[in-house]
Amino acid sequence: MQPSVDLAIVGSIGIDTIETPTEKQEEILGGSVSYACAAASFYTHAGMVGVVGTDFPTEFRKIWENMSIDLEGLQTVEGKTFRWSGVYEENMDNRRTLSTDLNVFETFSPELPVAYRSAPYLFLGNIHPALQLHVLEQVHDPKFILIDTMDLWINIDKENLTQVIGKCHMLTLNESEAQLFTGEFTLNKAAKQLLELGPEYVLIKKGGNGSMLFTKDDIFLLHAYPLDDLKDPTGAGDTFAGGLMGALAASGKTDKEAIRQAMIHGSITASFGVEEFSLDRLKRLDRSELEARIGEFKEMCRIACADSEERM
Ligand code: AMP
Repeated sequence: MQPSVDLAIVGSIGIDTIETPTEKQEEILGGSVSYACAAASFYTHAGMVGVVGTDFPTEFRKIWENMSIDLEGLQTVEGKTFRWSGVYEENMDNRRTLSTDLNVFETFSPELPVAYRSAPYLFLGNIHPALQLHVLEQVHDPKFILIDTMDLWINIDKENLTQVIGKCHMLTLNESEAQLFTGEFTLNKAAKQLLELGPEYVLIKKGGNGSMLFTKDDIFLLHAYPLDDLKDPTGAGDTFAGGLMGALAASGKTDKEAIRQAMIHGSITASFGVEEFSLDRLKRLDRSELEARIGEFKEMCRIACADSEERM
């Protein structure tokens, strides 16, 4: 059967309440798969696999429909949608979770529609590693699988997490999660250990300080786009990964150069996402704004490289 989407994305869907030092927004659309699909939708046809309750607002669903996200893999289950609330400290880097109400997410079992199972690209967003393994049992040998995770799963189910990471081409996680997983402080040593688990690529995110892509042979450094305004960093990593996978799927490639290019697309898409809460900025972002910022960013990097060549 022909796949109906180029990229399938599995993850959480939440109704979030978020407090920053200057603003509080209640009951807004969130969740890893929501951010990731929104970002991917700028580049490719992405399908969402997640669960919502019967209380899920129609206007939230419309946001996804307007972004042409395929919703065949979205389950609606009797009960309340997953709720999460968090508060950011002054520097916007540290975040405290105030409450987590799993609701219908507690019994979620991701089932991929038949037409998603042969999608060439798969992004396993942040959910329980046993569920990520369950997704891998359903797919027909995707050519590229990216997996994301969080500190919670490293702490409570490292065994399943290690197993599922070993079946993926690329792992993405935050600096602190890489340190927690490996017990190594330097990212070089942490990445080496993570590469030993099986993936060819390890992408370590450093928030506003950019990201690093490790392979057995080399490292690629990517700075973050310098922003004027940062309103809400929630979902930045999911937006980055979703944009990256969308751009990679659009290229049809899986090689290192294509991944480096896709990282730039992911990072710039995320830079727009954090300018406002929820999907507020992404839902009115157009391709020309994205392309313009990508061009501006590449120019910033080009000058830096030319400068270092001159000094050599
Ligand atoms: P991030 O900023 O990457 O941590 O992603 C934030 C999103 O993750 C929020 O929109 C939440 O709805 C969602 N979220 C929070 N806690 C969890 C959890 N335990 N499992 C899955 N998703 C979560």
